[in-house]
Parts: sequence; structure tokens; C-alpha cells
Amino acid sequence: MAKIKVMDELLANKIAAGEVVERCASVVKELVENSIDADSHEIKVYIEEAGTKSIQVIDDGIGMDKEDAVLAFGRHATSKLKTEDDLYQIDTLGFRGEALASIASVSDVILKTSIGKVGTCVELHGGKVVSIESSDARRGTSMTVKNLFYNTPARLKHMKSLYTELSSIVDYMNKIALSHPNIKFTLINNDNVLLKTDGSGQLLKTIKDIYGISIVKKMLSVEASDADYDVRGYISLPEVHRSSRNHMITLVNGRVVRNSELNKTINDAYHSYKPDTRYPIVVLMIDVDPSLIDVNIHPTKMDIKFSKLEELKTLIADMIHKELKKGTFIPNAVEEEFDIKEEKPRYVEQKISFGTINEEVEDYIIIDEGKNDNQLFSLEGLGEQNPKQEERKEDRLPDLYPVGVVHGTYIICQNDKGMYLIDQHAAKERCNYEYYKKKFGNPTNENTAMLFPYTEEFTASEYIILKENFDVLRNIGFVVEEFGVNSIIVKAHPVWLKTEDVEDSIRKILELVISMEKNFSIEKFNESAATMLSCKKAIKANDFITQAEMEKLIEDLHQCENPFHCPHGRPTMIFYSNYDLEKLFKRSGFENSQ
Ligand code: ZN
Ligand code: ZN
Repeated sequence: MAKIKVMDELLANKIAAGEVVERCASVVKELVENSIDADSHEIKVYIEEAGTKSIQVIDDGIGMDKEDAVLAFGRHATSKLKTEDDLYQIDTLGFRGEALASIASVSDVILKTSIGKVGTCVELHGGKVVSIESSDARRGTSMTVKNLFYNTPARLKHMKSLYTELSSIVDYMNKIALSHPNIKFTLINNDNVLLKTDGSGQLLKTIKDIYGISIVKKMLSVEASDADYDVRGYISLPEVHRSSRNHMITLVNGRVVRNSELNKTINDAYHSYKPDTRYPIVVLMIDVDPSLIDVNIHPTKMDIKFSKLEELKTLIADMIHKELKKGTFIPNAVEEEFDIKEEKPRYVEQKISFGTINEEVEDYIIIDEGKNDNQLFSLEGLGEQNPKQEERKEDRLPDLYPVGVVHGTYIICQNDKGMYLIDQHAAKERCNYEYYKKKFGNPTNENTAMLFPYTEEFTASEYIILKENFDVLRNIGFVVEEFGVNSIIVKAHPVWLKTEDVEDSIRKILELVISMEKNFSIEKFNESAATMLSCKKAIKANDFITQAEMEKLIEDLHQCENPFHCPHGRPTMIFYSNYDLEKLFKRSGFENSQ
């Protein structure tokens, strides 16, 4: 029986207007989602010149009989939609018929399909059927789209560079693979394998297939739930971050969705663990009662609204914070070099046999053996499998013994694991930051009267903002008053504001209040003020530091909640394991090397 029904004229026109097929990636998306809907276990995508020359999608799905194969390209044919309303309420992935019609109308298409007995081959040129023949009987569908947009030069022009087209195809394929770990995906562009997943059904393996083994070793397993939401997945160590937000991926009830607020929550949870302009790799699967979400499936994207968004945000933020407060995050200096080369999405053949999750982790350990003494930040985090994780003590910083300073900037430390270089400015900045954050958060109201009160004149608008926030300043311990036209006087400052160049600190705090204007929030103010003062008060590079000062600095770091990053997210220290040092000096592997 024919599965394809004829749909409403209006809907057809709407789609014909070009909402569906805008770029090569949208063609790939439509074809792949058709394949998923057809219950495929394996989907191969071959493209040439980023899809501009040809796109072929081959699946092992249920296929179509001859009648459906022809009807599939009828301008108004679809197996799923009947009215325009359906377009916005539909709960399946693809839009079979109308998308195919749109694609066919702007390209040359060859469809080979079979439900397992006889096969059908349909060829179209610009949407018109030019031949219908019988074909081989292998079950499944192969759809080849060539010369896309050949008859619509305007849209051809609209397409970006080949690199941009390709990266959006790779991006889409990565996401669809993550949301379907049980399907084998292959993506090949001009004979280069860009993605190959094994369809094992395990998310971590799919992440490995996409990002490579060195990244997967730096992913931490996370899990949290409340009355409405179950969240689980993987988050990258703070040292792993990318220039694009694209690697924060949320799946809701098994589907990749976009929600910028969730992405912001994830990214903010890493605040001060990495630079604010870089983004972590995070894959989270969220399970929720469908009645709590509102999914709007626009043909080219998927937006989602949650009815208990605040709860979900808190759940995710707490989950990530909890995990980040457990680990030891000291980047390995030698490994870092390799990571930089892996910045682009790529596929690396790894000859590893995988079994259950536990064996999987063992595989990583085997690979890791001897290479990485600093195990804490790589393997233990891999998750639920490791009960020791909970027992980790509060102080996450290993014992460090300073032995000298390089260029008055980097403190060299050692312990039995290897050598550490501490950036003295970044380290001091972190200590100051945590000091000021505490002070701003719990002001004591004790203040120090200034021998020479600080006065300054502002513009009228600046003055208004300042006056509105006098309470904020008074709360943290400033004695501040109006002082003539558009001027203020500060007569005393909080005791904890360290006194060298106090005028400059006051000026910076006032400027901060002004710069925040209408968006003033006490949390943001405290955060920015602490960051600003921490840098100002920190020992600079090239400042001489004594042995006693080094020891004090390390002692202070031990007291920090996060001793591993400065407030701007730069690492405070890097690590050379004994093994790395031996390898660098070619000592390892040589017998009797001395
Ligand atoms: Zn700084
Ligand atoms: Zn910094």
C-alpha cells in the first residue's frame, strides 16, 4: 500500500518558497532524517566538493515500493503531513515528500530503492521524472543529488564557501550521530572519512568517534535528576575548550535541540575554570515528560521551550559545579601540544576493540599506561564506574616544593610525580580573587577612615547611576556621600581593601558601578570587582619573589576552592610528568640510561 499521501497546496507552496532547502547541509539533513525514519541501522553519506557537486545518502532501511518511489517526488506528496498545522506540531524527524520535491526541483536526482524484492530506480531532472526502471533488490534506499541549485543561481550565490558548507554538514552529522548512537554513520567528502561511528548504542563511543580518544579521556561523566528531569552525559575537563559554542550539545528525549539559555548555563558553570571566550565540549541527554516541553520544529532547526527552565538550569549548573570541584585540573604540558593539532573535527582510525562500558574504560587505561602519571585529571573522572571519586579529599592540589624561578615569572616546583611550572601572577591572582569574592560576598562594615578623602566629579548621568548605587557601596563598607554638583566624596573604605594605591582601587570600583548601569546586579558586581582587584593586586611577571614568598603562595593556593585557574580561566600551573621528562630527554626505553 502506498505510504505517501497528497498534502495541502498551501503547505506545498510554503515549502517550495525555500524554507527547507537552503544549503547543502539542509539537503543532507533531509535525506539523513528520511533514512532514520525508515528504520535504518546504517547510514552512509558521500559528498563531493562539500555537497555542491553531489550528495549521496545510502541506508539499509525499509525502502519504498515502486508506487511510493514515484510518488515521493510528486510536488505535494508526503507520508507524514496533511495540513499546515501539522508542520508545527509534527513529532517525527523528517518531512519526507515535500522536502524531496523541493530538492528534486533544483537538482538532478537518482533514487534507487527496494523493500527487498524488486528494486526501483527513478531519475529526475529539475523535478521532472526522466526515467523509471527496475533496479537491484538490496533492501534500503540510495538517494543521489547532483548539481544542486543548478537552475536557481540566486540560491547558489547564497551559499557560503566550501569550507563553511562542509563544516555545517560535519556539524549536523556529528549531532545526529550523538543523538542516535545506535545507528552507524559514515560521512565521506572527496574520499576523506570525516565521521565514522560504530552504532554500538553507547554515547561515550560516539563521542570518541567524533572527537578522538585524547578528548574522550578528558571527558567527565555527569548525572543528576530532580522530580521532573533526568540529566546525564559528559563534560570536558576545563583544559579542553573550543572557540565555537557548537560543541555544547543538548539532547532532549533523544533529539538534538537548541536552547541558548541551556548553553549559557553550561558555559557559565565553567566560569573562571576557562577563558570566557572559549567553550567546553559537553554532551547532555535530558529526559523529561513531553508535556513539560514545547518543541517547535522549524524545517531547518529545532527550538525548544521548557516549562520548568529555572529548575533545569539549576540542576545542570549544580551538576557541573559538583564535578568541577572534585578533580585535579593541571594540564599536562607535553600533551597540550598534541591537542592543538586536533582542533578541527576529524576522524582518526583507532584500532581498539570495545566491549562493555567497563572494558571500554580499561581500554583507555591500557593506552594511557605509563604515559600519564597525572591520572587524576584523565581517567578517574570517567565516571560512575569509579567509586573512589567521592572519597577525594577537599584539597585537590598536590604537594608542591618550589625550587626556583624562571624569568621572575614561572615558579618551578617538584614532587614525586614530576615538575610543575606555576605562573606566579596567575596564581596570586587566584588567591586574591577568592579573598575578594569572600569579602564582597560577606562585607563586615568595618572601615578605615581615609587621611585624604577621595573626591571626584562625574558627568550628570554617571553621577545619577552612582547615587542610585550608594547603598551597594555603603553595604560593602565605603563611607560615601554627595559632594557638591555631580561630585562624590569617599571618606572611608572597607578594612579588607588592601591599602597600597587605594585611590586607584576606589576609582576602578566606581567605574565598574557606572559601567554596569541599568544591568546592575550585586552578583555580577561582586564578581567583576573581585576579578579586577585580584589582577591589580597580584604580583606581576618579572617581580622578584623570595623562597618564603613562593612557599606562602603555594600554601595560599592550597586554601583555594579552585587553585588551578586564574579568575580569567588561564591555568595557574602546568605539569611535566616524570615520564614526559624522560621521554623528552630520550631516557625512556633505553636500558641503563643515567
Ligand atoms: Zn592579571
Ligand atoms: Zn588572569
